[in-house]
Amino acid sequence: MRQFSYDQLAGRVLFGHGTIAAVGDELDNLDVQRVILIADDMAKAEADQIEDDLGSRVVARIGEIRPHVPVVDAEAARHMADDRGADAVVTIGGGSTTGLGKAIVLERDMPFLAIPTTYAGSEMTPIYGMTGDKVKRTGRDPRVKPNTVIYDVDLTLDLPANVTAGSTMNALAHCVEALYAQERNPIVSLMALEGVAALKRGSAGVAADPRDGAGRAQLLYGAFLAGASLGSVGMAVHHRICHVLGGTYGLAHGDANAVILPYVVAYNQVAEPEVMATLAGALDSDEPDLAIYQLARALGAPISLAELGVNESDLDRAAQMVLSNGGYNPRPLHRDWIRSLLGDAFEGLPPTSKPEP
Ligand code: NAD
Repeated sequence: MRQFSYDQLAGRVLFGHGTIAAVGDELDNLDVQRVILIADDMAKAEADQIEDDLGSRVVARIGEIRPHVPVVDAEAARHMADDRGADAVVTIGGGSTTGLGKAIVLERDMPFLAIPTTYAGSEMTPIYGMTGDKVKRTGRDPRVKPNTVIYDVDLTLDLPANVTAGSTMNALAHCVEALYAQERNPIVSLMALEGVAALKRGSAGVAADPRDGAGRAQLLYGAFLAGASLGSVGMAVHHRICHVLGGTYGLAHGDANAVILPYVVAYNQVAEPEVMATLAGALDSDEPDLAIYQLARALGAPISLAELGVNESDLDRAAQMVLSNGGYNPRPLHRDWIRSLLGDAFEGLPPTSKPEP
């Protein structure tokens, strides 16, 4: 067994159906009275319900959420929290909404309760990201991890197919990269493998019937495990590629994940045969890269960068940006390989192992 270290992240999780009704009690546990409520427009009805339940405890509300947390939005949200004397942040929405909440607590010391409505997993991590001048910058800070997370499966039943597909693939990517992370450890690997299996189980049910409650529960459970894995170990080149595609070329994070993940798994396969064998087992397949490629298609995820509006002429620059961002990957990187991967992803070709450039 490899030597490892494992830092357990603090935080409370409530998981189930109808759990959103517990927001008031959970805020009591946090001993807070003046909430800034940040809600994705698609979760407006649930946010209205929370506001009704909490009454005068909601002192401010933000209902317009832009992707990738623009720096100006973060500053405006902090000013609103200051002006209204907020003593806690509550978010309800996907990773963009959670991200705006994180941008407040990063610079204002107050409790944070998050209610995720997608599978992105940001609610379980101490990672924040903000975008300015078309570049997304991320960092880790324990202050941004929500104190309490309420997972309510019912909030995800009507998640549109494109968001379901993209954020499921984002969750799957967190599990996959956690397995071969530089700081990998047996506890996180257990969570990540169980996450992969849950996401696969849930995908099958939800692909057949988008309102399948059991399938939705598996996806949300998998997303929780994926977020917890992401929160504990670093990621690798897959995430760096997706951040370039999102921050600089404006792709939705989930869409980028869906297209890129099979190719990165194919590339890293030779460097991590044992990890890939356990991943294959969790996916119930001999070929994890192909299994992931097919899972994305079964969910109706985008299949190529071309389909997402990327220009082929942008691929050289994107490859250069990925390389210059540096960072860990289990197999050494080479500009030609990244360019070749982006070329395959541009066309949506089936993944194949790449020889050394
Ligand atoms: P998102 O929050 O931008 O939401 C995607 C779309 O889904 C939006 O149009 C939103 O309106 C809609 N939506 C959300 N909930 C809905 C619901 N219940 N019903 C219908 N529509 C709904 O995207 P996301 O995929 O949740 O998150 C992606 C963002 O989160 C990216 O910026 C990514 O970088 C970030 N992220 C951060 C971390 C982290 O640890 N910091 C982890 C994962 C993702």
